[in-house]
Amino acid sequence: MIALESLDLTNMTRSAKGSIESPGRNVAAKSGLNRALQDVALGRLAQWVLVKAEEVGRRACLVDPAHTSQRCARCVHTSRHNRPSRDEFTCQQCGHTAHADLNAAINIAERGRACETAWHQAGSPALPRRAPRIRRRRSTGTAEPEPATA
Ligand SMILES: [Zn+2]
Repeated sequence: MIALESLDLTNMTRSAKGSIESPGRNVAAKSGLNRALQDVALGRLAQWVLVKAEEVGRRACLVDPAHTSQRCARCVHTSRHNRPSRDEFTCQQCGHTAHADLNAAINIAERGRACETAWHQAGSPALPRRAPRIRRRRSTGTAEPEPATA
């Protein structure tokens, strides 16, 4: 089973410019981050992970990303103070320390396992399949279905 955070990339890459009345802060840094996020095309990457997982019969869950980077993977204490820096995670309650990305990945995996358990408890229903997209050829105007991904 593969778990991915269900990130809202549209909001994540929104401009920090603000308005004339309330100008944004760190606009240059935010615009650089936006460019980096758009360069790696995270949405497209996530879509490919989901498609490839389905092709090989694996389940993939999109999980709620809320506080995955601030929640302690050991004791579940959640606080922004658990992140003294971008890379460090230090739980203010139990003292657990880890690389912040590793701690977040453990939280995401746990939500993925909960998603998997809920799916099994619901009787492992068949996953909805999207109808094949129709790809139109510009030159001839004829339509032909894309190969099935199942
Ligand atoms: Zn803790």
